[in-house]
Amino acid sequence: MKLSQILRTVFIAAVLLLNAGCGPVNEAGILRVGFDIDDTVLLSRDIFVNLPADKRSPIDFAWVNLQDRQMSKLITPTAELIHFFNAHGHQVFFITARPGDNGDTLAAFLTEQLGFPVIKNANLFFEPKQTLGDQRYTTKHRRMKKLDLDLYYGDSDTDIIAALKAGVHPVRVVRHQSSIDQYGKNFFGDTTDGTTIAAPFSDLDKQLFYRASVGVFGESIYPIIWPGPTDETE
Ligand SMILES: [Mg+2]
Repeated sequence: MKLSQILRTVFIAAVLLLNAGCGPVNEAGILRVGFDIDDTVLLSRDIFVNLPADKRSPIDFAWVNLQDRQMSKLITPTAELIHFFNAHGHQVFFITARPGDNGDTLAAFLTEQLGFPVIKNANLFFEPKQTLGDQRYTTKHRRMKKLDLDLYYGDSDTDIIAALKAGVHPVRVVRHQSSIDQYGKNFFGDTTDGTTIAAPFSDLDKQLFYRASVGVFGESIYPIIWPGPTDETE
């Protein structure tokens, strides 16, 4: 066996040991970074606006998880960020609130788009919301704690709340304007409303948050506003 092969084997074994949950895993200065999927890694709006009538209420996520190849686009600034972390030896995980039925298909699509293995329940986790009373609450913080994350990137208020609950540094990714227009909820309250107690922040307030790079919960805002996918026909 060549020296380079031996070194590679030792390196892979060390990484697997670090991931085996044997004590604190961050002593080597390796960050464990989490990302939300919808409107953070993938612009998947087209799936949700094209839900067939019989898959809307409740949303049939087993169907949704089969549609990314046809309808989702990679959000390139987030992909660059993921590659940046990987290139520096940090560990990247994905946590989505989608239920996990047909989650292997989403994993395969992410693998293809990002160019490294994305595997359900290994580095891609499905953590659906929980209903308490008439509210829906995130459960992502439970996975964040188990993964011992350092950083978490997401577009929604609930992403930021989950990170704070888990003691993880939260970073807000700016949701694409077309998604805000289509479903404004869970993004600074709902800036498409801006007139109620539950949604007091207007579009103007949203611009102030962006300019100050700080959000409702004191989170950082990743300062890149993505214009959208390049039209392949141009
Ligand atoms: Mg999202």
